[in-house]
Amino acid sequence: MIQRPRGTRDFLPEEMERRRHYEQILRQVACSHGFREVSTPIFENTELFTAKSGPNIVEEIYSFEDKGGREIALRPEVTASVIRMFINEMTSAPRPLKLFYFGQCFRYERPQSGRYREFYQFGAEIIGAPNAETDAEAIALAAAMVEALGLREYDLKVGHIGILRGQLAELGVPADAAGEILQKLDKKLYDEAAPLLRSHGVQEDGIESVFATTQVAGGKELLSEIGGEPGRYLNELFRFLDAYGIDDVAIDLGTVRGLDYYTGVVFEVEAPCLGAEKQVCGGGSYTLSEVFGGEPVFSTGFAIGFDRILLALEREEHAFDGKKLDAYVLPTGEETREESFRIAARLRREGLSVDVDLMRRKMSKAMKQAAATGARFAVIVGSKDLAEGAVTIRDMDSGEQSLVPLEGLAKALSA
Ligand code: ATP
Ligand code: MG
Repeated sequence: MIQRPRGTRDFLPEEMERRRHYEQILRQVACSHGFREVSTPIFENTELFTAKSGPNIVEEIYSFEDKGGREIALRPEVTASVIRMFINEMTSAPRPLKLFYFGQCFRYERPQSGRYREFYQFGAEIIGAPNAETDAEAIALAAAMVEALGLREYDLKVGHIGILRGQLAELGVPADAAGEILQKLDKKLYDEAAPLLRSHGVQEDGIESVFATTQVAGGKELLSEIGGEPGRYLNELFRFLDAYGIDDVAIDLGTVRGLDYYTGVVFEVEAPCLGAEKQVCGGGSYTLSEVFGGEPVFSTGFAIGFDRILLALEREEHAFDGKKLDAYVLPTGEETREESFRIAARLRREGLSVDVDLMRRKMSKAMKQAAATGARFAVIVGSKDLAEGAVTIRDMDSGEQSLVPLEGLAKALSA
């Protein structure tokens, strides 16, 4: 038997219904905030991802040479693609552009709970407005999405990557070396960050001060303690968040995004019930377009790990009832089989979701099948009833049966 590749999943109908349900909620929330959906290719030129994300990304991506000798990669994230699309197609569009996407990403990672090689991201990008209200808008959307999904316990943390970047620059670390150090700090790998800092001539007290910054975490009271431009910016951001009614936000200067391109505000949402793989959303502001040959354009975006947030909802035991079939149509015998199909077709045209027996089952077996599909009603098509222009419908929950004239059938089934 052929198995699916490591780190991938199959989604059976029930799971798919659940996924579509939540996906639809996220779409609605994004649209209600004035964002519009886009879709980009699942594979891109590898260069798109290596251009700025640095060499580390190569180990994490599925890349290959295609038959024409081109270096191609399955996308590990969608932000780079959206910015590429913006530069290719949308630079003259009125700004800001507020875009969202949903789709799968691929990373060559060690599979574990909440970590797959094929997974789904629901993300949004705001392109074109360099100010705190743009960041507030992105954070507001992320928060609204998590709320709309119904996740009960989560932490929203905001930081400013400019603080650590500024500190590293002051200590003499070249800008192009900062990314690797920040990646270590993101994972709290202090033992690996220290030698890197030393290699750039940073003294022990400098290293201590950098590490201390990543430990600064708390509530809004910290706002007055953060100095410089990042401090001023964060104060402004929190005023807009406040106006949006988002007050349960923590400040955490240890919020460092793994990818290189973040420059300003960074934020994350964590679901503590997930343990180690608890980060369900990550985002921040960046200027990516200049890397791809466009003018520098200020953007803010985030991506929700769709699979992870669904896992969190599962841990919190949120009930999900899939949409039921309205009716299952079954004939009492051979003589009404064709008429059953005619009735099913008519009900479908009238907008109901209807199934019909395809297995030539005897009535009792067909009734069992009707129950198994979860249909709300069985429509029993018998020749005696038909002669009177009627069918019998059975409420599958109560077992109650009643005779309904054919012309009133759709109405009776939708009641
Ligand atoms: P992590 O530190 O957990 O690897 P990341 O910083 O690599 O996350 P991002 O690139 O910001 O993650 O992606 C956004 C979100 O996508 C993450 O917050 C997470 O929920 C989800 N995600 C990332 N990698 C995977 C994966 N391999 N499988 C499932 N979800 C993932
Ligand atoms: Mg990762």
